[in-house]
Amino acid sequence: MTIKGARLVILGRQGSGKGTQCVRLSQHYVVPHISTGDMLRAAVREKSELGRQAKTVMDGGGLVGDEVMVGLVQARIDQDDARSRGYILDGFPRTVVQAVELDRITQDRGLDVVIDLVVPREIVLTRITARRVCRDCGTNYTVGSVDRRPWLCDNCGGDVVQRDDDTPEAINRRLDLYESQTAPLIEFYGRTSRLVEVNGVGTPDQVFQRLTTTIDARL
Ligand code: AMP
Repeated sequence: MTIKGARLVILGRQGSGKGTQCVRLSQHYVVPHISTGDMLRAAVREKSELGRQAKTVMDGGGLVGDEVMVGLVQARIDQDDARSRGYILDGFPRTVVQAVELDRITQDRGLDVVIDLVVPREIVLTRITARRVCRDCGTNYTVGSVDRRPWLCDNCGGDVVQRDDDTPEAINRRLDLYESQTAPLIEFYGRTSRLVEVNGVGTPDQVFQRLTTTIDARL
């Protein structure tokens, strides 16, 4: 059986499980997972010109300019893997200008579907508040019933801590920002009947099943 490729955009709040599901979808459909946040963080690590510019914007919680972002995504989806099989866009588009430009650069082969992975705000707040991360290797953990202090990483023995930006105030700020940025995109893709909401509450397997059923119906 041949596996069909797919051209997808996935929207979803912080803590919706979008990152995890994108990785699984990318393996399932054999398409690259293109996360613009990851691309920018890589540029920051490499200290490239883009990285230097992006760092200031990212640290301030703002958005990198549309022209820069569109150029970056266009170059990536022009590569052979994405041209032949498709892609999963994660973190892009973030603005209506980016969405319009995405339609322009993909006009020969347009998006199959835009998915909004929906998890209520109270649930993501609880999830993110319980999130802990290893300071050294970045492994994610969830606070359980056992109080583990000091908490050392199972992977590398590093300190497991709460991220500075995972306090309820900071999380609420990021969620507000997400909402105000994404509402126009939901409306943009809704108008052209390309948006499908998928319930993101459940086990990772349940959510994955819903996603593939929804996507397969559109391929
Ligand atoms: P993320 O990991 O997707 O939350 O992205 C981290 C940061 O990178 C964002 O807060 C923005 O500053 C920047 N960024 C990522 N994707 C975009 C985009 N499509 N447009 C503008 N800025 C972006």
